[in-house]
Amino acid sequence: MSTTIASSVQRLRATYDSGLTRPASWRINQLKQLQQLLNEHEAALLSALNADLGKSTAEGWLTELGYLHSDIKHTVKHLKKWMRPQRVSQPLMAWPGRSYRYPEPLGVVLVIGAWNYPLQLLLSPMVAALAAGNCVVVKPSELAPKTAELLERLLPDYLSAETVQVVTGDAAVATQLLQQRFDHILYTGGGRVGRIVMKAAAEFLTPVTLELGGKSPAVVLEDADISVAARRIAWGKWLNAGQTCIAPDYVLVHENVHDQLVSALKTAINEFFGSDPSTSEDYGRIVNQQHCERLVSYLDNGTIAAGGQHDMRGRFIAPTVLTEVDEQSDVMQDEIFGPILPVLKIKNLASAVSFIRERDKPLALYGFSCSQRALQQLTEQTHAGNQCNNDTLMFMLNPELPFGGVGPSGMGRYHGRFGFETFSHLKSVMTRPFKMDPNFRYPPYTPFKQKL
Ligand code: NAD
Repeated sequence: MSTTIASSVQRLRATYDSGLTRPASWRINQLKQLQQLLNEHEAALLSALNADLGKSTAEGWLTELGYLHSDIKHTVKHLKKWMRPQRVSQPLMAWPGRSYRYPEPLGVVLVIGAWNYPLQLLLSPMVAALAAGNCVVVKPSELAPKTAELLERLLPDYLSAETVQVVTGDAAVATQLLQQRFDHILYTGGGRVGRIVMKAAAEFLTPVTLELGGKSPAVVLEDADISVAARRIAWGKWLNAGQTCIAPDYVLVHENVHDQLVSALKTAINEFFGSDPSTSEDYGRIVNQQHCERLVSYLDNGTIAAGGQHDMRGRFIAPTVLTEVDEQSDVMQDEIFGPILPVLKIKNLASAVSFIRERDKPLALYGFSCSQRALQQLTEQTHAGNQCNNDTLMFMLNPELPFGGVGPSGMGRYHGRFGFETFSHLKSVMTRPFKMDPNFRYPPYTPFKQKL
């Protein structure tokens, strides 16, 4: 296997060195080929997502295929502008001449995807890498095997194997991949493996983008519209059965509106998934038994205010709200990454800010309030990879916003132009004419010495 991996990478390097990937026309063609794959195999892709994660057609389309279509469309539309060298001013000391910032591809890059959005998290970084003119190795997660198998079969039919290689397998395969030299690695997944990736990359001084996770809080202040806040939190939390890196992990709610919020969350669950969510086609399943067991162990970390039902064999855990949760309990220490939502009382904005600041910098932060001033304070007084006010997840839809973590929730960013820049090197290029070559800049620096 390792010789196969090494020769795959070598093959891509030979393609990159040939210059094939440089022209905008080639890059746009690859992206359109990918678009065609998504169109022609939409049903098979949606069915693989359903088999892996119980994703409904609507959810699979909205969060994976639809997302990728707009990503590709946006990239194709703006690519020539992003690729254009940007002329900048020339300082007097270096005059005459011209200076440019020139985006160039990095070479051969590796994208390691996670299982929770197995299409989006693998293909969206690949779109950015191809747009930037690189050759790419993509490694889907083994925990979403149907999607991984399908991508392994379909991608070579649409994208040249000289430029994109799909390598499937588990941690052992990922380890072999990381023994190769890449020019950039974008990894999506947990922090434990993130550290392994970064250590392996250090061997070759390969830059990394780490898209990690963490506990993303939602803060609900007393003046928020509680019913709308509850619906938006419920949507962001129970999409994909809570297995979303930017899902609200827990809620900090003003004590005066705690009961009202819990009741509105129950109403939202009932509206979205009915009285028995196990029968709702719009409610997903937990990825595997191991994660089910981990999640079920959190159920006694508080009082179950809603949900709590589970069926391990069916990988089902109902949308669950936990109240009276101890801050020291496991559910408040680990990233939940499942459909359990602890709701904790706070006295005011300042106590919410201290609670957040005492913990790792989260990937996402959600603030709910009618006061612009309070939301501004939340932005200014806390750290988070991304913040969205009076809603959840929606910031993902704006390609003008960079997506990425900070501190333990990750490093680097992508989406839209930021993805193109992540997979490019911004080379400084200054060109000077031969004419005008005065002596003063050369030793023995006589004019300067006379002035000093
Ligand atoms: P996972 O198990 O799918 O692992 C991610 C990838 O790492 C897989 O491709 C896997 O094969 C590979 N891997 C596993 N062990 C490895 C090793 N020893 N060496 C090299 N590679 C290895 O995903 P996960 O870690 O369970 O993902 C869940 C985490 O990912 C959560 O913390 C979540 O918040 C985070 N996440 C972040 C984002 C984001 O965009 N920031 C998106 C999704 C998930």
